Formats: sequence, structure tokens, C-alpha cells
Amino acid sequence: MHDGVAAYVLGVLDEEEHEAFERHLDTCEQCQAELIELAELPDQLDELKNDRSSTSGDDPPMSMSR
Ligand SMILES: [Zn+2]
Repeated sequence: MHDGVAAYVLGVLDEEEHEAFERHLDTCEQCQAELIELAELPDQLDELKNDRSSTSGDDPPMSMSR
């Protein structure tokens, strides 16, 4: 369950997973600490995305790895 932190921060969980993780987060200090660390990631990803979208405009979502 602890693996969900990154996915949660990136907003790639579906609704059910998102709620389940929030419930877990409420009781899990490990995930709360990790969440704070990872909270800086989306900013960095945003910068990368802005960089890219200014050149190609319509990139496929990152979750499409195939
Ligand atoms: Zn946890």
C-alpha cells in the first residue's frame, strides 16, 4: 500500500484507489513523510511538461507506456 504515494501525488490513481489511499495516509506516518518529500515532484514534472508542450503541443499521457 505504501507504493501508492507517488501515484497519489501524480494524480494517476482512480477514484477508488485515491480514496483508499487517503484513508491509509491518515493512519500511516511513513506515507505522510513520503508524501511531503514527493510533493515537490509534480512541480518538476510540470516544468518538463511545459518545456515539451511548447514544442509539440499534444503529447500522449505519461501513463501510456506501451
Ligand atoms: Zn503507508
